[in-house]
Amino acid sequence: MFGRAPRRSDNSKYYEVLGVSKSASQDELKKAYRKAAIRNHPDKGGDPEKFKELAQAYEVLSDPEKRDIYDQYGEDALKEGMGSGGGGGGVHNHFDIFESFFSGSFGGGGSRFRASRQKRGEDVVHTLRVSLEDLYNGTTKKLSLSRSILCPKCKGKGSKSGASGACYGCQGTGMRVTTRQIAPGMIQQMQHVCPECRGSGEVISDRDRCPQCKGNKVTQEKKVLEVNVEKGMEHNQKITFEGEADQAPDIITGDIVFVLQQKEHPKFKRKFDDLYMEHTLTLTEALCGFQFVLTHLDGRQLLIKSNPGEVIKPDQYKAINDEGMPNFGKPFIKGRLYIHFDVVFPESRVLSPDTCRRIETILPSRPGKSSSETKLDECEETIMHDVNIEEEMRRKEQRRHQEAYDSDDDEPNVHRVACNQQ
Ligand SMILES: [Zn+2]
Ligand SMILES: [Zn+2]
Repeated sequence: MFGRAPRRSDNSKYYEVLGVSKSASQDELKKAYRKAAIRNHPDKGGDPEKFKELAQAYEVLSDPEKRDIYDQYGEDALKEGMGSGGGGGGVHNHFDIFESFFSGSFGGGGSRFRASRQKRGEDVVHTLRVSLEDLYNGTTKKLSLSRSILCPKCKGKGSKSGASGACYGCQGTGMRVTTRQIAPGMIQQMQHVCPECRGSGEVISDRDRCPQCKGNKVTQEKKVLEVNVEKGMEHNQKITFEGEADQAPDIITGDIVFVLQQKEHPKFKRKFDDLYMEHTLTLTEALCGFQFVLTHLDGRQLLIKSNPGEVIKPDQYKAINDEGMPNFGKPFIKGRLYIHFDVVFPESRVLSPDTCRRIETILPSRPGKSSSETKLDECEETIMHDVNIEEEMRRKEQRRHQEAYDSDDDEPNVHRVACNQQ
C-alpha cells in the first residue's frame, strides 16, 4: 500500500490477503474479512500492518466499482482514483488511516478508508424479533426503514451553485469556544458545535439554497433492507449493514445494526445449540412405555418412543442427538434435543382394596410391616389432612405481619424495624 514501490498491475494481492478466490462473492469476502480482522486486530495482539492491509483489501474488494478497476488494472490504478474521489482529499498519512480504522465499529474497513479525516456517524441499532423457527430454519426479513441521505440534487452541498461562505458565527471553523471562570484564577475553556452552521462552518445565501433540501444537504429516503437471518443465529446476535445509517455531509456513514431478539417458544427452550422440552407422561406410560409424535421447528414429525421395558422416572431427562439447533456457520451440525419428563399420577384419589391388591401383585411389594408390628400397638394414632401448602404459608405470614403491626402502639420502634426488614 502506501509508501511501497509500485508493482506492475498486480491484481491478486488483495485476494491473497483475505484468503479468498478471485471469484469470491461479496458474502464470502465479508466473512473472510471479519474473521481475519478479528484475528489480526491490534487490540487483541495482532499486527497493525497486517490489519491495515486487510482493511484496505476489503475496502477495495467490497466496492464493486473499485474491485472492477483492481481486477483490470491493479492497485496503482486505484491509488489515483482514491485521491480524487475521497471526501478528505489531500495526503493521508499512516497515522490518520490507522486511526480511522479504530474509530469505527469492528467490522469497519469500507468507506472509512478514503474519508479518514472525517468523523464517523452514529450506528443505528434496531432490535429484530425472530421466532425460534426463524433461527432454526434461517429466514430473510424485509424491513423498510427511513434514513437521511445526502441530497441527490445538490450532492449534499445545500446550494445550487455549490458555493458557500464561511459562517460568521464561527469564522468557518464550525466550533465555538466559550470561557468561564470556575474558580479565581482558573478559567475553563469549552468548545462546542457552532449553532448557526451546525458545525459545518459554512453558510448558504437564501437565493442559492438548493430547492430540494432547502439547504439542509440531506433528504429522507425510504429503503428496504433484507436482513438475512442465518440458521443457528442466536439471541442478541448482531447483523450489520455497513454504512447504511443516516448520511450527513463530511461524516462517514455509520452502520445499521440489527440485534436479534428471540421470542419465547411455547414448546422449546434453547441453550446454546441444544433444545429443551417438557413432556408429561401418565403413570401407565411411565411404567409401561409410551410413544408420541413431536412436530419439530422445521415441521418434520418425529416419533419419540421409550425403549421396550423401560421405566421413566419423574424429573428424568433423555436426549436425542442431532435434533437440537443447527450450529451458526455449520448448519449441518446440530445439538441435542433434551426431553424433561414429568409423570402425573391417576386422578382418582381413592383406590379400591381390590385395585390395590392387583397393583401389589405386579409392583415391588411394600416395605414389610411385620417386623415392627409389636411396637405399632404402642404408638399414638394420627390423622393426615389435605393441605394447600402455599396458601397456608401465605396466611400464616400475613397473620404474623398483622400482629407485629397491631402491637406497634406499645413498642413502636422495635416492631417497626422488624417490619421494614421483611
Ligand atoms: Zn439539495
Ligand atoms: Zn458556524
